Amino acid sequence: MDFKFTEEQEAFRQEVRDFLEEELRKGTFEPSCDGWIQGYSPEFTKKVAEKGWIGLTWPKEYGGGGRSNIERLILTEEMLRCGAPAACHWFADRQIGRAIVAYGTEEQKSELLPKILKGEAYVGLGMSEPEAGSDLASLKTRAVEDGDYYIIDGQKMWTSCARFMTHVYLVARTDPDAPKHRGISEFIIDAGLPGVTIRPTIDITGSEAWGEVFYDNVRVHKKYLIGEKNRGFYQILNQLDYERAGLERLMGNYPLFDAVIQFTRETEQNGKPLSDDRLIRHKLAQLQVEFEIGRLLTYRVVLVMDEGRAPNVEAAMAKAYCTTFEQRLASVATEILGLYGQLLAESKWAPILGMAPHSYLGSKGYSLQAGTTEVLKNIVATRGLGLPNE
Ligand SMILES: Cc1cc2nc3c(=O)[nH]c(=O)nc-3n(C[C@H](O)[C@H](O)[C@H](O)COP(=O)(O)OP(=O)(O)OC[C@H]3O[C@@H](n4cnc5c(N)ncnc54)[C@H](O)[C@@H]3O)c2cc1C
Repeated sequence: MDFKFTEEQEAFRQEVRDFLEEELRKGTFEPSCDGWIQGYSPEFTKKVAEKGWIGLTWPKEYGGGGRSNIERLILTEEMLRCGAPAACHWFADRQIGRAIVAYGTEEQKSELLPKILKGEAYVGLGMSEPEAGSDLASLKTRAVEDGDYYIIDGQKMWTSCARFMTHVYLVARTDPDAPKHRGISEFIIDAGLPGVTIRPTIDITGSEAWGEVFYDNVRVHKKYLIGEKNRGFYQILNQLDYERAGLERLMGNYPLFDAVIQFTRETEQNGKPLSDDRLIRHKLAQLQVEFEIGRLLTYRVVLVMDEGRAPNVEAAMAKAYCTTFEQRLASVATEILGLYGQLLAESKWAPILGMAPHSYLGSKGYSLQAGTTEVLKNIVATRGLGLPNE
């Protein structure tokens, strides 16, 4: 067991840090919580693309970096640490590009991968529907064949990046007569096609990072079906592992963690900094212990991926643990900041830029998105512990 990174990996980390520090210095972005999912910055994404850091792990023959998942982990860890605005490329880089590499045709690869690699295709995730969340296989959006096209009708909700996506990854029913898991297919479609209507969802934090998307008689060429028709559900399972597995489930609010520690150093109560208060020190120390556990669980996922295995149980465990860590972080930060800590960013009295209430409210959704904690525990119980299916 070796917990050390290699010299090359440490050098890569330094390169990423230098880049991010320079961009922070130039004012390209301000650190923010949830930057990976809510931070919209085409400018930043373009710069990341120019560094060759989108598609870092994809095969070189498709323009990717051909590097390891550990290196991608280092890259994402540094981006998350400083709250970089990476939403434009995150989803395509993390999972949709990989799905195209794994299941796509050569035509799809040559059309879509270069756009993603250049930071020009922003892909939203369109899986969930009003009546299909945990039980995704019960989805109703349908894709009906019509010559060289599929005609798509239905409604999706919680589509990430809906307000600015250029493409949407969509799952739809292609065989209504087959058992529900067997009649589903995956598509990548242009979000600007006629018949696609996007309505922002304003969430509990006031953010419009997600949206409802309506598909009304949308004609999609058959060449945009990804992988095998009617086998989409099985392809998705693999993709969901990547969706759940990353450090973004642990470090989405890292700027808050940093800022609250700094706040305790700089804020005095009864003539002493808060950081001298034993209760506060213990709360922060407990968070640090939990953070390191989450980090190890996430690192393990990456090791499994680099061995060429699907990180199924490992990803479920990591996400279940890490998202509850983020909820505890938001809770502890709110306690430490006191009453003013509940003020949102708009208020001039809000400490640490109003990050705490944003995280407190937003983190409630972390244990729902990409698979609820209960569903993840079902995976750990059945595939991890070998307990029978319910
Ligand atoms: C902030 C946020 C972002 C999201 N982003 C996206 C996105 O980008 N793309 C997308 O397609 N979707 C997205 N979603 C949707 C998300 O995937 C679903 O909300 C999630 O799968 C749960 O589905 P549901 O909301 O329909 O709840 P349900 O599936 O109806 O679940 C309700 C409750 O029942 C429990 N439950 C359900 N089934 C079981 C079971 N078998 N065993 C035990 N308990 C169970 C759940 O844990 C939950 O507590 C997002 C959701 C949120 C809140």
